[in-house]
Amino acid sequence: MNSALVWLKRDLRLHDHAPLHAAQGARAAAALFVIEPAWLQSPEFSPSHLHFTLQCLAELRRELAARGLPLLVRVGEVPAVLQQLHAEWPFQHLLSHEETGTGWSYQRDIAVGRWCRAAGVAWQEFPQTGVVRRLRSREGWAGRWAQRMDAPLLPAPTQFHTAAGFAGAALADQPDLPTLARLGAGPLTQTLQPAGERAARATLLSFITGRGRDYRRALSSPLTAESGCSRLSPHLAFGTVSMRQVHQATEGAMASTPDRTLAYALHGFAGRLRWHCHFMQKLEDEPEIEFRNFARAYDGLRPGDGVPMDEVHAARLQAWCEGRTGFPMVDACMRSLCATGWLNFRMRAMLVSFAAYHLGLHWREPGLFLARQFLDFEPGIHWSQMQMQSGTTGINTLRIYSPSKQAQDQDPQGEFVRRWVPEFGTPDYPAPIVDEKSALKATKELMYGQRAKPEARAEADAVQQRHGSRKAGLPPSGMKRSTGRSKTPAAPSPQGELF
Ligand SMILES: Cc1cc2nc3c(=O)[nH]c(=O)nc-3n(C[C@H](O)[C@H](O)[C@H](O)COP(=O)(O)OP(=O)(O)OC[C@H]3O[C@@H](n4cnc5c(N)ncnc54)[C@H](O)[C@@H]3O)c2cc1C
Repeated sequence: MNSALVWLKRDLRLHDHAPLHAAQGARAAAALFVIEPAWLQSPEFSPSHLHFTLQCLAELRRELAARGLPLLVRVGEVPAVLQQLHAEWPFQHLLSHEETGTGWSYQRDIAVGRWCRAAGVAWQEFPQTGVVRRLRSREGWAGRWAQRMDAPLLPAPTQFHTAAGFAGAALADQPDLPTLARLGAGPLTQTLQPAGERAARATLLSFITGRGRDYRRALSSPLTAESGCSRLSPHLAFGTVSMRQVHQATEGAMASTPDRTLAYALHGFAGRLRWHCHFMQKLEDEPEIEFRNFARAYDGLRPGDGVPMDEVHAARLQAWCEGRTGFPMVDACMRSLCATGWLNFRMRAMLVSFAAYHLGLHWREPGLFLARQFLDFEPGIHWSQMQMQSGTTGINTLRIYSPSKQAQDQDPQGEFVRRWVPEFGTPDYPAPIVDEKSALKATKELMYGQRAKPEARAEADAVQQRHGSRKAGLPPSGMKRSTGRSKTPAAPSPQGELF
């Protein structure tokens, strides 16, 4: 390869990085990260996402510079940035990872493809998760996932041939990265977990060598999940660690630890890693699910879904976003999430179930708000889960979380509620914004009524065929492997917990 530009996106690491690995063989190489106005202006964007990205870039830039690879950080639309760069340095290859993104990044990729063809640049994209492009059928998907995850890890690159003209930029004394303020991104309002590849590796290591020992018990309560869950989701979302690294490190730890409790806990964790890609595959296969219901039979049932949101529902949405619904467990979870950028699975599901069933809201607006709060926003998981927890997939059992039962089960002493809703029990705390019983009754009638219709049932079969996992009731974690290399035992069924 003569000259190669590595286009970094949500893959901000050195290890197990196919484009960087390939660029080592080029006679001249450089790397590029583009801060895209379309991203900054997208409704899912938050300053936290940018802050985390800039921190990852600062670390990666130093590491790459030490290996002779300049990491150029530019602001602009990608085709225009590539055009400008190409005029300075006519690179022949563009190397990047595949991305299962949102509507705007999909459109951007189309524009980049067009630019590459016009400029005579060969664009090569490498997979970095278990998501399969242009998948025809879900049959055999789990086997392909296992094959990719069991493939050997790529070592961190050691030395590049610096592209002439950028030699100065490969030195450590590069200009500072832009700040949030300079990019007009608004202030950082969340206290986030540490960013960067180093933090990702430390997080993974601490989890698989001991912190994860109590995982199965710890993951449901927001009190214990904070340290008992892996906390790898932002790292997977920004690519400071690859799914293959996490998978292989987990398998290795399971096989080598004499601690049977830890091995059992990691077994449960390993299954969840497969769900990550299983859900992302849904968006890859049907990008429209970012905007519309999996099952069209549910179209227009709730305000906000083609039907304008009336004042009552708009006020409910606002109270939910502000953590002022009068349901203490809901409010505590929302406030905790808004402050930290993270929440455990069960409490995320409860927040969405509350918005969908108690407040009668369609998933899109609440989903955009949550996307901005989640540091780990991953479009494929996010939109699939938003729909699943709102009952619009057509294939999953309607699962309604009772906030009072969740409070009893997951915060029996009221510690979490006291921490995040200190005014609970005083005149400053609002009364419940809906009557739980009647609100649920109305939504249930609506949803079950729709579900019973023959056309809804027929559509559910089509959704199952296209997106469902192939073993009844199990996500891909429970599927038989077609390759025999992995030692991961079948993951536990998520029945009753997820669906
Ligand atoms: C409405 C809703 C929206 C969500 N949006 C996102 C999102 O934008 N990004 C995101 O990464 N996760 C999302 N999740 C899934 C899940 O809540 C998070 O992955 C998890 O809480 C992250 O914390 P962790 O890394 O400590 O998880 P762990 O329990 O330690 O799990 C490890 C990894 O397994 C994967 N995983 C775990 N649970 C799930 C699941 N239910 N579905 C898919 N993958 C899973 C994730 O990659 C996670 O990082 C969402 C869940 C719900 C209910």
